[in-house]
Amino acid sequence: MNGPAAIVRVTGLRKSFGANEVLKGIDLSIMPGEVVCVIGPSGSGKSTLLRCVNLLEKPSAGRVELLGVDITDPDADIDKVRAHVGMLFQSFNLFPHKTVLGNLTLAQVKVLGRTMAEAEEVAMRNLSHVGLADRANAYPAQLSGGQQQRVAIARSLAMDPRLMLFDEPTSALDPELVGDVLAVMRDLADAGMTMMVVTHEMAFAREVGDRVIFMDDGVIVEQGTPAQVIGSPSTERARLFLHRVLHPIDIADSELGETEPIDPVLDRQEWDALHHEEPAD
Ligand code: ADP
Ligand code: MG
Repeated sequence: MNGPAAIVRVTGLRKSFGANEVLKGIDLSIMPGEVVCVIGPSGSGKSTLLRCVNLLEKPSAGRVELLGVDITDPDADIDKVRAHVGMLFQSFNLFPHKTVLGNLTLAQVKVLGRTMAEAEEVAMRNLSHVGLADRANAYPAQLSGGQQQRVAIARSLAMDPRLMLFDEPTSALDPELVGDVLAVMRDLADAGMTMMVVTHEMAFAREVGDRVIFMDDGVIVEQGTPAQVIGSPSTERARLFLHRVLHPIDIADSELGETEPIDPVLDRQEWDALHHEEPAD
C-alpha cells in the first residue's frame, strides 16, 4: 500500500448486542489530519462505531487498526495505543473534587509518567489554547457547561493525542455555550489534528469537516464532502434526515396525518400541539 498510513482503518466491522446487530459491516479509513464528521439518526450506531474504534466496545467481527496496530488482535497492547487517542463525550467526566489544573495533570503523571512540574506546564499551555488559563484553580462546579467541556478537551490534548474522537460534544450544552466549544474544535482541526466527530451541528460539519459520513441502521449509507452529503444528498434516507435536522419545525403534512391546514397565526393550543411533536434527533 502506498501513501501515508491511515490513523484509523476499520474493515468489515460488525457489532451485536444479543440478537440486535447494530453495526452491519463498516469499512472506514481516516488519514492523518482528516476531520471526519459522522451524522445520522438516533440509534443508527454512531456511538457504537466510535466506541469500537477506541475498543471501549469489543467488535463482534471485523478488524480495527489504530495507528497501524490491529487492536482487535488479542495480543495487541491496547492500552498503549489507546493512550494516543482522546475521547470526548456529551458529559464532561471531570473529577468534581479536583481543580481544573488537577484534572489536567492527573493522567499525565499517572499514564505518561511526567513530573508534576512538566504536567503543570503542559496543562497551562493547553488551558490557554481553550481560553481558560485563568480558571486553573477553579473546581468544575464553578464553571459553565461550555467551560467544563473545554477543560475536558484541554485535558485530552495534554496527553498529546494522535487522534481525537468526539461523541456529540455539544449536545448537552445550552445553545449559547455551543459556539465556544465548536470554536475550540475548529482551532484543533486547523492545527492539523485528526478528528472523528459525531455531531448534529451541520454548520460545523459543513465548515470544518473534510468528509461527512451518513449512517443509518448500522451501515454507512453515503459519504463524501460536506457539499455532497449535506448539500446534495444522493439517498432518500439522508435527504429525510437532513430535512428533519435542518428544519425541525417544518413538519410534513404526511407526518401530521389528517389535519386542518395550520393558520399562519398560531393560537396557543396549536403552538403547544406543534411543540409536542418530538423534534428530529
Ligand atoms: P447512536 O449513537 O447513533 O444514537 P448507538 O450506537 O448509541 O446509536 O446505538 C445503536 C443501537 O445499539 C441502539 O439500538 C442501542 O439501543 C443499541 N445499544 C447501544 N449500546 C448498547 C449496549 N451497551 N447494550 C445494548 N444495546 C446497546
Ligand atoms: Mg450516540
